[in-house]
Amino acid sequence: MIDNQIQVLIAEEITLPSPPAIAVQILNTVQKEDAALGELVKIISADPALTGKMLQLANSGFYAIKNEVTSIDRALSVLGTNVIKNIALSFVIATDLHEEKQTGFDFDDYWRRSVTSAVAADLLTQQLGQKDDDIFVTALLHNIGMLAIFMHKRDEYSELLHESCMSDQSLIALEQSKYNFDHQQVGMTLIQKWGLPRSISDPIGYHHNPDSALGNDQKTAQILYFADQFAAIYNETDTAEKVRLLQGELAEQYSLTSDQIRSLLDDVAEKSVEILKTFEIEPGDMKPYSEMLQKANEELGRLNLSYEQLVIELKEAKAKSDRLANELRDANLRLNDLAYTDALTGLYNHRYFQDNLSSELLRASRYHSSLSLIIFDIDHFKKVNDTYGHPAGDEVLKKISKAVQKIVRPSDIVARYGGEEFAVILPETDITGVKVFAARLRRCVEGVITTVDEQQIMVTISVGGTTFSPEQSETSKNILIQTADRGLYISKENGRNQVTILATENAPSP
Ligand code: GH3
Ligand code: MG
Ligand code: MG
Repeated sequence: MIDNQIQVLIAEEITLPSPPAIAVQILNTVQKEDAALGELVKIISADPALTGKMLQLANSGFYAIKNEVTSIDRALSVLGTNVIKNIALSFVIATDLHEEKQTGFDFDDYWRRSVTSAVAADLLTQQLGQKDDDIFVTALLHNIGMLAIFMHKRDEYSELLHESCMSDQSLIALEQSKYNFDHQQVGMTLIQKWGLPRSISDPIGYHHNPDSALGNDQKTAQILYFADQFAAIYNETDTAEKVRLLQGELAEQYSLTSDQIRSLLDDVAEKSVEILKTFEIEPGDMKPYSEMLQKANEELGRLNLSYEQLVIELKEAKAKSDRLANELRDANLRLNDLAYTDALTGLYNHRYFQDNLSSELLRASRYHSSLSLIIFDIDHFKKVNDTYGHPAGDEVLKKISKAVQKIVRPSDIVARYGGEEFAVILPETDITGVKVFAARLRRCVEGVITTVDEQQIMVTISVGGTTFSPEQSETSKNILIQTADRGLYISKENGRNQVTILATENAPSP
């Protein structure tokens, strides 16, 4: 029972819709004695659309009737007055209270939920071994207060509905804080005003808090409370979580086993789809929960499978890209080799000599260290070629290159400067160091014997060298080369097979 104050408040705020005329007739008729049953048949039969729907529903799997029911008369005797009355009321009200494409309120969704609730309430009542002919219509109308409020508040109520979807505040709490009443109380008042029995109206007033209802109403309100949850499972998201909660509560309230609950869940979907059709409401993609679960598992399986496939493909792609990267690195190394090495001797070529001398010079000036450069040239090499042939000359060049490489430090760079002329870059080497090295170099080459066709070829070299010292940081690469070259020239001039190391100040200005 809700107090009169609230009823007054509701009456002030909301003009409750009147029941459709045919519903009034049906209600009036069934309140009379048995003699009036013929009248109920007449009322229903006068409306062909209603008759069609009634027969469709009577023959659906919902009411397990063996023989086909082809007349309202027959339906009445098979299903009983109460059931027929309730079905007729459900159709009439659902058809009447439906607006097409109203913004802010989805009537199809509303009635889809209501029908699902009605089916769930009916099946749950049967499962519990209780008998309540009115439960279908009670559950169908349990949220009718929402419709009544919407019809008066429109945009305002749409916003409220939206807010309750977005926030974790319940619709009841939001309604109470805005209007001081909620849709349970409006629904209950409306149903009472329509003259439906209190056994229908009163449980509707407590479907969100059944414990506050009294006596038998509490039992019915409890069923409505659960029916609402069944409807949410099939009409909202987060299905799995909702099923988990419902199972817990149903097991606690009615000691239902999880098998019983699962088959109830499936039944609700199957029967709802059937009944929604008779209400001309699109069932959407409502599927029994076990089917949804199976589909989800299959999807998961497919996902896992494609995930594994993906991992394999990624591994293959990675291996392929590693292979390509290796090939690329090798190719680059070969390219570098080609770009920086001399094909005949395997020494660095002239280009690399130039690059390296530049960077070593920069490094030396940055770290205030010394750097020495040597250029040497084979004496009378033309004669070697002329005497032993060009290929023999090549052998001599190779042999000398190897010998020189053996006497330098790993950080030294030996390059073929051109023809029979070579250069050695000696980082961290001052004027004393380069003098010692140059002498060693000259002696080394003097000792190299190249044997070609049993003939021993020996050559000498003339050496020029110079040193960059940190005190003369302005010394350029060109000055260094020119100074070393000049030393070489002097060695040649002075009779060959000798060393001339010059300080850079002796070099001509560039
Ligand atoms: P000098 O003592 O004045 O240096 O006399 P030289 O004969 O060594 O000097 P010149 O510049 O007159 O001759 C250099 C010779 O080196 C001529 C050239 O054919 C030879 N030569 C240059 N590059 C190669 C090479 O790759 N292989 C061979 N076999 N000979 C080369
Ligand atoms: Mg020469
Ligand atoms: Mg020469």
